[in-house]
Amino acid sequence: MIEIHCPYCNEKRAEIEFAYAGEAHYVRPTAKEQAEMSDEDWSRYMFVRDNIRGEHAERWWHNAGCNMFFNAIRNTVTDKFVMTYKMGLSRPSKKQIDAARKENKAKT
Ligand SMILES: [Zn+2]
Repeated sequence: MIEIHCPYCNEKRAEIEFAYAGEAHYVRPTAKEQAEMSDEDWSRYMFVRDNIRGEHAERWWHNAGCNMFFNAIRNTVTDKFVMTYKMGLSRPSKKQIDAARKENKAKT
């Protein structure tokens, strides 16, 4: 069973309590930008995502818990969560991700 650390509850909970909510840090265009976008650009915004193989910044929803959205760095190959962090925080640097990965290895 995969456990995910919710940064709001500050505890690991069963994966079944969470739902994937898309790519993190994906900025929605402003209303003005949307009005000026071509159909092709709008289509790209709506449907095209990075789909990274490896460590990916994702948005998750603790829908059966505190009901909060948060971000996570998850390895899409191993399905291991490297770290989670609250909404509004910047994407972690490579150095922060490396430190979290090292800390996870020390715990196992
Ligand atoms: Zn929570």
